[in-house]
Amino acid sequence: MKPGNPVFSSLGTTIFSVMSALAEEHGAVNLGQGAPDGGGPDDVRQVAAQRVIDGPHQYPPFRGIPELRAAVAAHDRRFYGLPVTPDNVLVTSGATEALMAAFLALLAPGDEAVIIDPSYDSYRPAIAAARASVRAIRLTPPDWWLSREALATAISPKTKVIVINTPMNPTGKVFSDDELSLVAEFAARFDAYVICDEVYEHLVLDGRRHRPLMTFDGMGSRAIRIGSAGKTFSLTGWKVGYITASVDLIGLIAKAHQFLTFTTPPNLQHAVAYGLAKDDSYYVGLAADMESRRDQLAAQLAEIGFVVLPCQGTYFLIADYAPLGLQGAADVVAKRLTIDAGVATIPMTAFYAEPPADLSLLRFCFAKSEAALSEAGRRLRRYFANRPAGERAALDAAEAAT
Ligand code: PMP
Ligand code: GLN
Repeated sequence: MKPGNPVFSSLGTTIFSVMSALAEEHGAVNLGQGAPDGGGPDDVRQVAAQRVIDGPHQYPPFRGIPELRAAVAAHDRRFYGLPVTPDNVLVTSGATEALMAAFLALLAPGDEAVIIDPSYDSYRPAIAAARASVRAIRLTPPDWWLSREALATAISPKTKVIVINTPMNPTGKVFSDDELSLVAEFAARFDAYVICDEVYEHLVLDGRRHRPLMTFDGMGSRAIRIGSAGKTFSLTGWKVGYITASVDLIGLIAKAHQFLTFTTPPNLQHAVAYGLAKDDSYYVGLAADMESRRDQLAAQLAEIGFVVLPCQGTYFLIADYAPLGLQGAADVVAKRLTIDAGVATIPMTAFYAEPPADLSLLRFCFAKSEAALSEAGRRLRRYFANRPAGERAALDAAEAAT
């Protein structure tokens, strides 16, 4: 048989599916894949249910139903003051499709795309599918600061696209206005587009507000802002995403979208249009709820002996297992904890093309029920209290050294 396209044939299965399958196999509490427990707001599901009965059932307009395009534009005006209309909006089948459509529509062979590691796993394959190359900036914990020097090193006249993900998966970082200003400055100087993955826009914690790069001077014509109903309504399986961009860019990206999925289930689009108009208490409640889950998980992990990194948003908390004396690469440790401790996480090694050698970080998803988080805490506590002697010796040595 002839080989397939190496962009895809060289890939493994995504780490999220691998860890979820392992969790299932071993009955582990799944704090891996970023999928919240629960089914999202009742009223949004009710609208969807009614629409499944009443219709529509046939192909909706390929750019999205007018109600949802209007709702996304109204949402962007309401939360961010963006001067946009439904003509600035394209509905996609999840943010994953939005990203792929944007990369395919913008990048040509020979172009470069700048991404920031640790990065969400779909960026590299999507850029490769567009036959462009990746220039990666590597941020370092605990604050994952984006410096002028790092940007200056990665960006060149070949840069067509910069990708910025804020709040950022997997780090839980929210980029500061200073960092976003730098991105805006470099994008303008090098005439680059910025794909702004803002799927966690309503999961900014501690009373802070999300600020889209599109609100920065000159970015209205360069920024491609991507949102996801999956995150905003805790309905990740729905796969309803949306893009806000200039009319010209929306037209261009729509051309790729029409041959990727063409459209998205109309019933779900209606429910999301309804949901986006929910009053502020919904959005405030969502962030407050996630905040208490983050705090619960952070306290449990710290008590066990993990060093928990700061987390300003998303569903994710990063913790360092090295202080516990656990040895081994993060992918090995994550598998061991799933099988032996009964708690699944995502190894941070999955978010790099070539992970740093000494990366001892795991990503924990806290968008889970209080009971699930408590059970995960209990299991980890028990595991670390009963570890094999070799590991305890390593821990003792690490403790003695401090
Ligand atoms: N971008 C980031 C940073 C994500 O974490 C995810 C995963 N949910 C996506 C994009 C994809 O979102 P969707 O499920 O709407 O395709
Ligand atoms: N975005 C989710 C995460 O980071 C996973 C999405 C997926 O499984 N493809 O966990």
